[in-house]
Amino acid sequence: MYVTLKEILKNTRKYKFAVGAFNIHCLEMVPAMIEAAKAKNSPIILQVSPTTCKYIGASLLSNLVKYLANKADINVTLHLDHAKDFNTIKEAVDNGFSSVMIDASALPLEENIEKTKEVVEYASKHGVSVESELGTIGGTEEGVALNDGKIIYTRPQDAIKFIEATGIDALAIAIGTSHGQYKSKAKLNFNVLKEIYDVTNIPLVLHGGTGVSNEDLKKCILGGISKVNVGTELNVAWVTAAKENFGKAKVNDSCRDLLIPSNYAVQKVIENKIDVLGSSKRTV
Ligand SMILES: [Zn+2]
Repeated sequence: MYVTLKEILKNTRKYKFAVGAFNIHCLEMVPAMIEAAKAKNSPIILQVSPTTCKYIGASLLSNLVKYLANKADINVTLHLDHAKDFNTIKEAVDNGFSSVMIDASALPLEENIEKTKEVVEYASKHGVSVESELGTIGGTEEGVALNDGKIIYTRPQDAIKFIEATGIDALAIAIGTSHGQYKSKAKLNFNVLKEIYDVTNIPLVLHGGTGVSNEDLKKCILGGISKVNVGTELNVAWVTAAKENFGKAKVNDSCRDLLIPSNYAVQKVIENKIDVLGSSKRTV
């Protein structure tokens, strides 16, 4: 079934599990991602950055994901990750995405509220869910987290105000993770997570899941994280297999056969992550 983010996350807080949101990097890997979820009988969120959305095309993406989702016995959400402007979001909504993220977290709180409200108003008219971000999730250099204070933790009091003022379906919070981190592991602030969880009632989202150890991921989920974003780890697995296979290939070898190990590597990463997140058999 093809469902919204609100629908796919609705039981996560109650039963303390998280649904993985896995970044599509190219069209080839999409069927393998769905296969992973089917093998684990787990709901799955497929997400794209605005750049990937532009590269593949919003309509092609949503039609493919809808087709695969409606054939499967599991719930699937297609989500636009980290969109910064209204037009990018409008294109995804108009082309059938079931969820979008507006990232106005770099702006002052009041402006973040205004931009997010505008998106919620448009998306809700079309039955599409909205995620928004508070605080600042860090970035990385060559896979290692930058330790220069770029992570600004989400403040619980801001979270209360933000959720009430905007009507969002899920909140991305900053508790110490970084985007693109894969050579080191993040130091998370579980106290901040607890403080935010205790004063909120909507699903909380952890970005930068690649940079979090399995042990810490489990702690996050017990602490109330509902959605975990994993992007870099899939890219690393795909390219690692591609380097190996293309590196030793003859030019007339089938590119199809050369790509199969890459797609399979992505499938295995997702299957393992589903086990850590506890979403197996959580199909309703
Ligand atoms: Zn993110």
